[in-house]
Amino acid sequence: MTRPSAHRRSHLVGLLRAFRDAAAALPDAMVAIDGAHRIRWFNPAAGSIFGLAYPGALNQPLTSVVSIPGLDEWINRGGADVLASVTSPTNESMHLNLHLIPYDEDSALLLARDVSQVLRLEQMRRDFIANVSHELRTPLTVVHGYLDFIEPEQIPEYESIIRELRSQSRRMTQIVEDLLTLSRLDAEVVLPRARVPMEPMINALKRDAEGLSQGRHKVTASRDSDRDLEGSSRDLYSAFSNLVSNAVRYTPIGGTIHINWSSDHRGGRLRVTDTGYGISPQHLPRLTERFYRVSTSRSRETGGTGLGLSIVKHVLQLHDAHLEVESQPGSGSSFTCVFGSERLLAPAKQIEDCRDEPSAG
Ligand code: ADP
Repeated sequence: MTRPSAHRRSHLVGLLRAFRDAAAALPDAMVAIDGAHRIRWFNPAAGSIFGLAYPGALNQPLTSVVSIPGLDEWINRGGADVLASVTSPTNESMHLNLHLIPYDEDSALLLARDVSQVLRLEQMRRDFIANVSHELRTPLTVVHGYLDFIEPEQIPEYESIIRELRSQSRRMTQIVEDLLTLSRLDAEVVLPRARVPMEPMINALKRDAEGLSQGRHKVTASRDSDRDLEGSSRDLYSAFSNLVSNAVRYTPIGGTIHINWSSDHRGGRLRVTDTGYGISPQHLPRLTERFYRVSTSRSRETGGTGLGLSIVKHVLQLHDAHLEVESQPGSGSSFTCVFGSERLLAPAKQIEDCRDEPSAG
C-alpha cells in the first residue's frame, strides 16, 4: 500500500523540481498572483527585473512591491492587451512588455519580456530612414533646380528625355518628403491638441481637389456638423489631402469626388468618396502598408509614392482615430477617417457666445 504512494510522491517531487528548474532558467519574468493580486510565487528573473526579494515579497500585493506607472489600472482592467514598453523598476534602460494570463478560477500569471534590444533596433531603423532621406534632399534639390533651368523646347532632340528626367526627379523629391513626414510622425508620441476648424479645412480640401483635377472631375463638399476637431491641423490636413489626391488620381475623367464632414454622439467622420476604379477586397487589408500599391503603373503615372495611406494611418493613430475603407471595383471607393467623440469640439462661436452671456444677478 505504501510503496506505490511513495513512488508517486517522489515522481511528483521530481516533476515539481523540473518545473522549478525550467522556470528558473527562463529569461522572462514570471509572477503568479491570486485573486487579490497578492504574489504567490515568482521565478529568479522576476526577482531581478521587478526587484522582488525572496521570501519577503511572497503574499504582498503585487503593486505595493512593483512600482510601474499604470500597472494597477491595467491589472484591474484584466490586462487584456499587452502593456507595452514599460520601464523596468530596477533598470531605467530596460524596457518590458507585460502580459497577464489568467488561469484557474481567480489566479493569473504576469509575464514580462525584455524588449530593449527590439526597441533599439526599431529606433536604428527609424534613424537610418530619416538620415538617408535627409541626405538625399539636398542633391535632389540641386538636380531638380538644374532641370528646371533647362528649357526642353530649346533642345528638341532631348526634349522627351528632359521631361522624363523632370518627372522622375519630382517623384524622387516627393518620396523623400513623404519618408521624412513618416519619420517625423514615427518619432511623435503626443501631438498638439489645438482646435482644427473644419469649415476652412473642408474648403481647402475642395480647392485642392479642384486644383488637381483641373476641371476633369466634378468636385463637391458638404458639412453636416458644426463641430471642430482637436489635434494637429498640419498633420490632419496632410492626411485628408492625401485621401483627396488619391480620389482624384484614381478616378477617370468625368467622375465625381465628394468630401463630407459629419458627427454624432459617437464621434466625427471625414469621408472622401469617389466614383473611380475601386479596389478589389483582397487588397484592402494591405493598403496602408508602406509602398503597397494595387497597380504600380497607375500609381506611378499619376505621381504616387505608395506612402500616402501610411501617412494617413499614422496621423489617425496619433489622433486615436482610424481609417475605414469601402470599395467596389469599377464603381468607386470611400475612405473615412473615424474620430472618437473626445476629439470633437463645440464650434468656437458657440463658446464665445457663452462667454458673452451676461452673468446671472
Ligand atoms: P500612392 O502614392 O501609390 O497613391 P497610397 O499609399 O496613397 O499610394 O495608396 C496605396 C494604393 O491604394 C494606391 O497605389 C492605389 O492602388 C490604392 N488607392 C488608394 N486610394 C485609392 C482610391 N481612391 N481609389 C482606388 N485605389 C486607391
